[in-house]
Amino acid sequence: MPTSVSSAPTTPRFEKAALHVPEALLQRYNTSGPRYTSYPTVPDWTDSFGPHAFTQALKQFQAQQNEANAAEPDQSTPLSLYTHIPFCTERCLFCGCNVVITRQTEQAEKYLDFLSREIDMLASHTPDTHAVVQYHWGGGTPTYLTPDQMRRLFGQHKRLYNFADDAEISIEVDPRVTTDEHLETLRHLGFNRVSMGVQDFNDTTQQAVKRVQSLEQTAHLTQYSRALGFSSVNMDLIYGLPHQTRTTFEATLDHIIALDPDRIALYNFAYVPWISPHQKKIDPAALPDGTTKFEIFSMAIDRLTSAGYTYMGMDHFAKPDDELTRAFVDGTLYRNFMGYTTKAGSQMVSAGVSAISGLEHAYAQNHRKLSQYYEAIQAGHLATMRGLAVSNTDRLHRDIIQAILCQGRLTYSQISQTYGIDFNTQFAPALARLAPMAEDGLVELHNDHLQLLPLGRVFSRNVAMCFDPYLAQRQEDHQADGNPPAFSKTL
Ligand code: SF4
Repeated sequence: MPTSVSSAPTTPRFEKAALHVPEALLQRYNTSGPRYTSYPTVPDWTDSFGPHAFTQALKQFQAQQNEANAAEPDQSTPLSLYTHIPFCTERCLFCGCNVVITRQTEQAEKYLDFLSREIDMLASHTPDTHAVVQYHWGGGTPTYLTPDQMRRLFGQHKRLYNFADDAEISIEVDPRVTTDEHLETLRHLGFNRVSMGVQDFNDTTQQAVKRVQSLEQTAHLTQYSRALGFSSVNMDLIYGLPHQTRTTFEATLDHIIALDPDRIALYNFAYVPWISPHQKKIDPAALPDGTTKFEIFSMAIDRLTSAGYTYMGMDHFAKPDDELTRAFVDGTLYRNFMGYTTKAGSQMVSAGVSAISGLEHAYAQNHRKLSQYYEAIQAGHLATMRGLAVSNTDRLHRDIIQAILCQGRLTYSQISQTYGIDFNTQFAPALARLAPMAEDGLVELHNDHLQLLPLGRVFSRNVAMCFDPYLAQRQEDHQADGNPPAFSKTL
């Protein structure tokens, strides 16, 4: 297996010297903050946005599309379809996903029946003139489904929607439970990307988080995926898990680099036992402190960029010839509920328990409890439990946050022109909040733009947070009521 990736001349370099930062500065920026897979973020959505509001939002989206199509045919907004399969046979203690732990495989059959009804309802508002450019099964464990069940679910979407020839069709796979037959079925159906959870190969860490997954299982899944022709094999790692040290995680990275994935997501462990009570089983004394976590993260950036990966910022790495890297270089990278993506401008329509949809003008999340999800579908309407009608002001802030997180640069005149505002006047308070970050070497402030510096790419969430008025209000409320924060730490 190769031990490094090929180099490309145009990818931005990451100045590793930026990672030698004083302790006091680390503590200053190690605060609670959103990951901004949406803006406004989920805690700022409202329960009063239910099935009726989301149905109306879908209808409005469709009406706008019809109007646009009448003026200029074949200009339909592309779609991103997400489907949530919540089942897992056991719980990994670090997990923050919405999962249903069960070994009763017949539960999946009932779930698919309800899912099928929801997919039909959603499709009735999003006709097949929209090309599906991104299609993803997440979980939970999507390979909890049998190959027959996979064929049934994918077949329904294929019948209802028009897939672009180059659609990105991906699935999250768990190497512990995914069989060769699963992979063969997926490839045969047209899936072209797999994304697998790895987290850490260290035995002690694996035992402490109750996720024991051998290097052999991961290597087999990787190699067999490649042999079957999946064009992209991605891996998720987590830093900040119990008993991790710089040395133990470096050994994990050695194995990862040898396995040669196309993309790597290196997530910061979100230790939020007040939100995910199963995390109470983790011994807090075994967790690395903020300084150690930063040492691990800095080492990982160093190791992965030395092996040829491009650091996109926040938590993503990709090979230089990967389309994610090309989008990063071109300035077309985008962020949605699936993390960084090349599919800017696509509208996400999601199905399944807890699934989140994101349209230009609305967000919606389905019920998180299976029983409530079933009840809603049984009643013949969508299963929306909360959401938000996105205002023009929200869109303005969303564009700013997207530019910071995805391009690492914000050009004030572009925002002024798009929204008919005077950026420097309207955002004078935010620019003032950025001044200390400029002194700390996170960002360069110019007359017409701001530019993230290498350290700012690590702490891009902190920079983006300066433009989030909901967060400012939330922080004030938190100080007043003393409730636990809604978000994990940025480091
Ligand atoms: S297998 Fe994945 S989704 Fe299921 S509990 Fe573990 S991390 Fe969470």
